[in-house]
Amino acid sequence: MKPLIIANWKCNPKTKKEAINLFNKVKSASRRNKTVICPPLIYLSLFNYAFLGAQNCHWQNSGAYTGEVSPTMLKSLGVVYVIIGHSERRNYFKETDEMINKKLKAALNAGLMPILCIGEKKGEDANLVVENQLSGDLNGISEKDRDKIIIAYEPVWAISTSDGEICYAEYAKKMLDFIKQRFNGKIIYGGSVDSKIIKNYLEVGYQGALVGGASLKADEFIKIVKSV
Ligand code: PEP
Repeated sequence: MKPLIIANWKCNPKTKKEAINLFNKVKSASRRNKTVICPPLIYLSLFNYAFLGAQNCHWQNSGAYTGEVSPTMLKSLGVVYVIIGHSERRNYFKETDEMINKKLKAALNAGLMPILCIGEKKGEDANLVVENQLSGDLNGISEKDRDKIIIAYEPVWAISTSDGEICYAEYAKKMLDFIKQRFNGKIIYGGSVDSKIIKNYLEVGYQGALVGGASLKADEFIKIVKSV
């Protein structure tokens, strides 16, 4: 099966015009593969694309939650995936495992496919962090619903805008095996992935990649998509 490549544009690009330009450049290559594009929420309705993802959602479907966007709103726009628990949401916006658990359940109820990000920060005990995140985030979610979740293992120290250190394949494989003992579904890797190193992670068994920085460079992103 083709690996799943997920582009996380984060809070980029700065303007609607630039977002449309980037999308138009990558979309032709993207249709060749299973490629998910996660632009900022504000740009989602600009794109008519079968594999759109959001970068976040709230756990309520409507109500007095100023500034939030709900899973049912995303679903009604034709969005299919939603990233939940990205390390930047956990760190800068203080999202806890309890909040992430509620978001996962709400996304599943709305019929979205969650991409759950987990991973340790530099110096942390990776097994302990991943174990705790998995048990807290997936708490009370049935096996049937777990099958709809994609786990993105992202060591925070390997994310390009964090410490950007290289996560060697051997380490990535060790963590993949650890996660597999606790989760049966699809597991992808994220952290400074580019067209040169993506194969290292696919070769050790990851079923795809979450791509941040490199997804903003159209040529490089197309190279990644075409290389898998
Ligand atoms: C990310 O933040 O999810 C990510 C994978 O970023 P990058 O590819 O830039 O390391």
